[in-house]
Amino acid sequence: MASAAAGVFPPRCERTCTLCSQRTTRATGHSLHCPTRQSFCQVSDPQNRTVEQWLTELRGGKTEKEMLRDRQRVNRKKKKAATLNSEY
Ligand SMILES: [Zn+2]
Repeated sequence: MASAAAGVFPPRCERTCTLCSQRTTRATGHSLHCPTRQSFCQVSDPQNRTVEQWLTELRGGKTEKEMLRDRQRVNRKKKKAATLNSEY
């Protein structure tokens, strides 16, 4: 069908902000949370939050560092469980 339409839509997570007309990248203070389809604009945020603070709130108060730590802990547990299983 209309092949001319291809390319009209920008990639899913790279758009222009409707609030400040900058590109919605981390570098410009923007973030998209795909699981909840929420977007964040640091420049226009009424509460003056940063991207990191916004993401932390979305995750229920967990910072990026804590998320990473949890993930590592889970991986370590999995590894431990795997070695335990092979021992028995
Ligand atoms: Zn913006």
